[in-house]
Amino acid sequence: MYYYEVLCYSCRQKFRVYEGSLKYKLLKERTNKIFRCEECDHKVRIDAIKNFFK
Ligand SMILES: [Zn+2]
Repeated sequence: MYYYEVLCYSCRQKFRVYEGSLKYKLLKERTNKIFRCEECDHKVRIDAIKNFFK
C-alpha cells in the first residue's frame, strides 16, 4: 500500500496518509496544503461541534 509521510500542522508529528483516503486525494491534487493527523482532526471536529452549541 502506498502512503505519504506528512507533517501534522497541529502537533508537528509525522503521520501517514494512505492511498485511497480523502487526504491522499487532496495531497495529490494539491488542493490543500494544511494537513492534520487523525487525532488532531478529531480534536478540531470536537471543538467545532462545541463552538456550534455555545
Ligand atoms: Zn496531529
